[in-house]
Amino acid sequence: MALAIPLVWSDAHRLHDPDVGIWIGVRIPADELPERAETIRSALEGAGAPVVPAERHSDGALQAVHAPELVSFLRDAWAGWEAAGLPEDPGQKGVVGYIFPHTGFLAGLPLREPVATPARTGAYCYDTMTLVGPGTWEAARAAVDTALTAADLVLGGKRAAYACCRPPGHHVTRTAFGGSCYLNNSAIAAQYLQDQGVPRVAVLDVDAHHGNGAQAIFWEREDVLTASAHADPGAGWFPHYLGYAEERGGGAGEGANLNVPLAPGSGDEEWVAAVARLTDTARAHGSEALVVPLGVDAGEGDPNSPLAVTEAGFREAGRLLGGLGLPTVLVQEGGYDLELIGTLVRAVLEGFEEATGP
Ligand SMILES: [Zn+2]
Repeated sequence: MALAIPLVWSDAHRLHDPDVGIWIGVRIPADELPERAETIRSALEGAGAPVVPAERHSDGALQAVHAPELVSFLRDAWAGWEAAGLPEDPGQKGVVGYIFPHTGFLAGLPLREPVATPARTGAYCYDTMTLVGPGTWEAARAAVDTALTAADLVLGGKRAAYACCRPPGHHVTRTAFGGSCYLNNSAIAAQYLQDQGVPRVAVLDVDAHHGNGAQAIFWEREDVLTASAHADPGAGWFPHYLGYAEERGGGAGEGANLNVPLAPGSGDEEWVAAVARLTDTARAHGSEALVVPLGVDAGEGDPNSPLAVTEAGFREAGRLLGGLGLPTVLVQEGGYDLELIGTLVRAVLEGFEEATGP
């Protein structure tokens, strides 16, 4: 049967086309590439999914989640880098930091706004792998529109909508970006659903890496549940410093954050059980709408994660998520195996429809 879940799309994702990242001081080939989204789109279109163009939304939805300084930094970063002549001398074609306001470095003194562009970058970007190029802002901004258009479809009565977002977003906090992400598409969609009248929302992140962005953004919120199943950061996986089971939320949000770290090598059995813990938590929370940061990098063979989930596992996760019976916005996050990425996203959506009906 043809997929009924609409795929929301923007061609603007192609404007973000990084060639390298900087990792431990060396240039490595970028892997968050335009081919990712194109491959997913053709797999879903081939399965019958209708394609809906992303519609422009105002900046209000961004500002509801991100600090205005972060948004304006991202908007102006490339122009500032170019104006400083850095693409020619020393020849760096992507905005990247070299000094970072580490808590030990500031030693309790307030964060200042440095004048030099490379120095300012470190105040907003927490790693060296997430470069801003000439088209990055436009692509990231269009990815937000893609997620928000999917949210509109769900608010308008669609059971589910899939936002084919690129670049991804789930590692971005209120004030800082990194992890190949610039604006937190999923978190923005979750807040938008709330602002449009859904009181309780769950963000269930199934990407192979911890959804640290939504965790940070909604840390003190009880009305937005955040939960993530991911490769154990304590076993050496990004984001390393966050994603541990004891992180349960703070203040009024105490208990409204769940992390399920998984040992490297975990396959269908362990991963599907972890996804079931996420859906059980959403039931207990009384969530009325669902946002799924949908990475498929837990797939076996993905170069960026040690998990080993098969197509059958992803299909089962789709069934579990669909089984909640909630209006659902699925937002593309990671997944770097170009041979399998389309198949795995399709398996999740087909599983979802098996549980909910067309
Ligand atoms: Zn990931």
